[in-house]
Parts: sequence; structure tokens; C-alpha cells
Amino acid sequence: MIQRINDQISVFRDDVYPSLGGGNKARKMMALDAKIKELGHNALVTTGGVQSNHCRAVALYSKKNKLECTLVLHGDKNRILSESGNAKIMRESGATLVFCDSSEISDHMDAAMQQYIKKGLNPLYIYGGGHTLEAGHCYITELEKLLENNYKPDYIFLASGSGTTQSGLLAGVSKKNVDIKIVGISVGRASERAQNIVGKFYNELCDEYYIEKNEISIVVDDSFLSGGYEKYNADIKEIADDSLMNYGFALDTTYTAKAFYGMLKTIEQKKITGQVLFWYTGGIYNYLAK
Ligand SMILES: *Cc1c(COP(=O)(O)O)cnc(C)c1O
Repeated sequence: MIQRINDQISVFRDDVYPSLGGGNKARKMMALDAKIKELGHNALVTTGGVQSNHCRAVALYSKKNKLECTLVLHGDKNRILSESGNAKIMRESGATLVFCDSSEISDHMDAAMQQYIKKGLNPLYIYGGGHTLEAGHCYITELEKLLENNYKPDYIFLASGSGTTQSGLLAGVSKKNVDIKIVGISVGRASERAQNIVGKFYNELCDEYYIEKNEISIVVDDSFLSGGYEKYNADIKEIADDSLMNYGFALDTTYTAKAFYGMLKTIEQKKITGQVLFWYTGGIYNYLAK
């Protein structure tokens, strides 16, 4: 669904997929649905932080499909046990929660996999953030659908974290050979590292899905980090606070308000005049977290 908010900016509402509150982590999870059913997986193991949209999506998918689920959670345990939003959904989902230090994540994920196998189950290991080829592919498909509906913006701005969503959109641009500039606003990583990761995953997606690579510019702008992941400034806070009233969807300070702020600043600083699509990746539960 595309929502126009003014003469220049429209918004792709990824938060209404597959139902209200979904967002890009729900779409990435649904991208694994066919594989899970085909291979008969009956347990899922993944990882994330205190307010992980990804872990929430995996926990809800598991509950809905009656799969076992282990979430290996890093970060402040007290926050996970007390906060609302994604943390609350994770706690109430019935998933097994394992708390650990970020240095021990893979050990705990491996152990959870082994436990399920010992019980005779067939678990699937899902990387943090839902970073899979299938997840990248679903954004190639979404971009194609936009173009099929005769909607071609000049720019797409989005919050870029693990880079899966951005890489998928970039691969979609190459597949359709269209002139759409994809601008990632970093929510945590420094530009150089983020761009390397996006570039590498773009290459993997093109190889996997037989897409001819072309000269695309890979931009993950770290100018709006405001100190790092989960950090924000007064302008970002104001955009978040007024978002429901102004636009009818929730921009949160960790992801989407930061990206929205970065988009507005970039349009102003670079005097962008073309049509802009803000890819709203969700985040209502981050907004409601505290
Ligand atoms: C994870 C997340 C992102 C970043 O998406 P990536 O594909 O990891 O880059 C953006 N917005 C929200 C709300 C997210 O949960």
C-alpha cells in the first residue's frame, strides 16, 4: 500500500503486511514460510536484541504455526523482562528465551539447535535480522510489483540495518534496469562498513537469482546516527512524537524516525526535486516499547 503524504513524498506501508504491525521483519519471516513447510521444519532458532522486530516476527510465526522457538537474546535482561512492545510479545509468545552476552550468541544458538535435534525435531537456524537470500528476494519482488503498477519514484529512502531490505531493493533496480536511487539511512553502522555489507549481499542476490549487475550506487548514510543504534536527537524525537498525528503511522526513534529525518534533511541539503518514496519498514512496537 502506498500513501501519499505531500506533493513530493509517498510512503510504502510495509507495516500493514501481512497484517497490521508487521513490517519488514514480518515480510522477511514470511519469505521463509514456503521453505519451512517444504522442508518440514518444526522448530526455529534465532537471535536479536531487547526490542528486536525480527525476534518478535519469528516468535509470532512460530506460535501461529505451532513450531518450537528459541530466541537467543542479547542486551539488558531487565529491559527484556520489563519493557513493552516487542519485548512483551516475545515474553508472551511461548518461545524459549535465552539471555546472553553478545559474544556468546552463536554458542547459545548452536546449543539450542542441538537440543532440538536431540529431541527428534527438525530445527531451522535463522540469522539475526532475518538476513537470508529469500528475505532479500522478497524485496526484489516488491520493487517489481511497484513498477508493474506504474509507480516509479526517483528515490527510495529507508532505514538500513542489516542491509537485507536495501540490498533486495537494489537488486530489484538492477533486474528491471530502472533509474531509482536507493538511499539507506544507517540506524547503527558506519557508512563504509554498511555499504560493503550491502554491496556484498547485492552481489549474492544477483548471482542467486540470475540478475545482471550494473552500475548502481550503494549509499548508506551515517550522518544521522546521532551517536549510534537506539540513539537519537531532539529533531528525531519530535518527528517520532508527532508521527501518528501528522501521517497516521508511527515513526520510532530507533529506525524509522531516524530514517525519515535523514530523508527530509537530505532532500533539503541536496535540493532533491524528484518524487521520493519512503519505505516505511514498520516499527510500531518500537514506538510503543516504553
Ligand atoms: C530491522 C529493521 C530495519 C532495517 O532493515 P534491514 O533489512 O535489517 O536493513 C528498518 N526498520 C525497522 C523497523 C526494522 O525493524
